[in-house]
Amino acid sequence: MAQNSSRPVGRHFLHIPGPTPVPDRVLRAMDTPIIDHRGPEFARLTKKCLEGIKTIFKTTNPVIIYTATGTGAWEAALTNTMSPGDKVLMVETGQFATLWKKMAERIGLQAEFIASDWRNGADPKAIEARLREDKNKEIKAVCVLHNETSTGALTPIAEIRKAIDAAGHPALFMVDTISSLASTDYRHDEWGVDVSVGGAQKGLMLPPGMSFNAISDKALSANKTSKLPKSFFAWDDMLNMNKVGFFPYTPATQMLQGLAVGIEMLHEEGLDNVFARHARLGEATRRAAKAWGLENLNKNASQYSPTITAILLPEGHDADKFRAQALETFNISYGASFGQYAGKYFRIGHLGDINDAMLIGALGATEMALQLAGVPIKKGGAQAAIDYLAAAHGGAK
Ligand SMILES: *Cc1c(COP(=O)(O)O)cnc(C)c1O
Repeated sequence: MAQNSSRPVGRHFLHIPGPTPVPDRVLRAMDTPIIDHRGPEFARLTKKCLEGIKTIFKTTNPVIIYTATGTGAWEAALTNTMSPGDKVLMVETGQFATLWKKMAERIGLQAEFIASDWRNGADPKAIEARLREDKNKEIKAVCVLHNETSTGALTPIAEIRKAIDAAGHPALFMVDTISSLASTDYRHDEWGVDVSVGGAQKGLMLPPGMSFNAISDKALSANKTSKLPKSFFAWDDMLNMNKVGFFPYTPATQMLQGLAVGIEMLHEEGLDNVFARHARLGEATRRAAKAWGLENLNKNASQYSPTITAILLPEGHDADKFRAQALETFNISYGASFGQYAGKYFRIGHLGDINDAMLIGALGATEMALQLAGVPIKKGGAQAAIDYLAAAHGGAK
């Protein structure tokens, strides 16, 4: 932005990996008079949301809707199924996995990490090997992130399920699908997940403030004997009230108005088309980065995230300074970097209500910002993305 300009012009390019841009149609749906949250109209809205969200998680079991961000639903997954001192196995895929592990420890669980270098998703073989060693079945849950938002690594959930089964281990299987749900295929029932944790502000295209637990029958039985304290997040109170279309307390009424429309929009586009769009945007972004000569933080090409790409800057270039300058000059936001890589990479979020043209705008802005910041790149990253997307839509190669 020019020195004396008092406002950024045009729409902000929100390319953080959540919250994502909220479609106008969702905003309009939320901009309605408040209705009685114990009245018949509200019960209809609740039921529509509860049924609709099942189609997103691909489950026939109940899904709990919380008035909390994803972090709340993480806590709910653990406190509803575990008892003090229980051992949980987690994988150090990155910052979000680290935060979930810290939470597990804070609430009185013994959390064990399978160490990793933050440049991969979770490895099914490593999980299987650790479970095979656990002869006394002390591990009560395996918790992984479907998509590690801090690094851009997608873990194959069906394969982790197979690994748990191959080890003959009875642990519950919990999956954080916050930054993958409604952006890439996710199958709670088919993949045998016991608790799936979702959030509103990423693929579901809502503002932050709502999150989900999809639960299996096995998780529901574990809930009956689980001894960690739970009150606000207790599943049983929720399930009882949800049966009649209500919540144990005042839910986020306008978020539910938005959720009903967000789900409708996802089905209008078609979930498979939604997934194909995200895969396409991810590939276009990676091609841009490659053409610039910049390195993807994720080293495992079979586990590239369809929703976010983490791009390393060359040694000596400060990614935080780059992001600040890009925001100032081109009104675009990227995700930050964490842990041992803090300041070394930036993340382009390409999830939610984002189309090809918006991505090309973002990649064009990124190429300009990289030049402005003096990062030594090869030109033509945005062009590589344009060529890929044009070809993907049937254009000449
Ligand atoms: C965003 C995110 C979270 C945290 O959710 P909040 O809504 O910020 O509490 C957790 N896990 C993953 C994978 C995420 O992307």
